Amino acid sequence: ARAVYRGLTDKPACTQDGATVALKMNAGLLADLPSLEMSGAEGVGLFRTELQFMIRGTLPGRETQAKLYGRILDSARGKEVVFRTLDIGSDKILPYMRREKEPNPALGWRAIRFGLDRPRLFRMQIQSLIRGAAGRPLSIMFPMVAEAQEFFDARDLLLGEVARLAGLGHPRPERLRVGLMLEIPSVAFGPDRLFEEADFVSVGSNDLMQFFFAADRENERVRKRYDLLNLSFLRFLRQIVGRCEATGTALSFCGEGAGRPLEALTLAAIGFRELSMRPVSIGPVKRALRSVDLGEVLAALDEAEAAGLTSARSALSHWARSRDL
Ligand code: PEP
Ligand code: MG
Repeated sequence: ARAVYRGLTDKPACTQDGATVALKMNAGLLADLPSLEMSGAEGVGLFRTELQFMIRGTLPGRETQAKLYGRILDSARGKEVVFRTLDIGSDKILPYMRREKEPNPALGWRAIRFGLDRPRLFRMQIQSLIRGAAGRPLSIMFPMVAEAQEFFDARDLLLGEVARLAGLGHPRPERLRVGLMLEIPSVAFGPDRLFEEADFVSVGSNDLMQFFFAADRENERVRKRYDLLNLSFLRFLRQIVGRCEATGTALSFCGEGAGRPLEALTLAAIGFRELSMRPVSIGPVKRALRSVDLGEVLAALDEAEAAGLTSARSALSHWARSRDL
């Protein structure tokens, strides 16, 4: 099977009915970057910057960070890398940083909330990203945005740093794309202005499902009850697709579910045209996408809807088996 996937590396993920889906990879370390070429990923749709912070004994300074981001862009050789700013808190802990104990860390003071309240670290990372880009295109997204104002505040801070550093002689990124992760349900119901002004929205289903179903992603017992093919969740995702289409906002999907063929087919069928996943998933997902007509996937979804099922999984699995997928 590996050879089959290798043969697809340079081919597009184009379905039988002519939809093209951009497949990108998720990464978190410089060491992940060689997979970009090997997997045929079109870019890095999610670079989890906190991983670099989590594997160290001390907080990396501005120079160290700038060098690292620069090397990541070097390794990407012109393919886009979407840097997600620090997502610290809950399941992502820095061993050297003292944190207040919180009763519900997943719902607590984390990610962009922490970044905006205590901007020292956030600002330092933003400066490092701008310096690391050294005039090249730069794409940044903010994690755990719950309301529009958080996105605007974070973006203002970023634009302020670009201007300030330009004043000090550092080149401005040739092109700056600023987006947000949609991983808290409230943001899906945010104002149009948020969708109009964001350069892109990236759905993070790991957290989005956790909050949608009130099921702790770290708690196997409850997490296993829910899946991406749950029809309530798919209805929610379709609303998000609709909003982004209405405002012309670029939309991608970077949660783990995108890496499973049945899920990827479903996401493509409901309108996602960019999926980011682990590099090893790209081959199987591409193969599945290339072999189907998305109309068939939609028909299986409609059938599950009409039957009033909770999840479309059984209907889709049945269809996939009949198609020998
Ligand atoms: C997500 O929440 O879906 C996501 C991609 O980010 P992380 O898994 O790092 O929280
Ligand atoms: Mg997340």
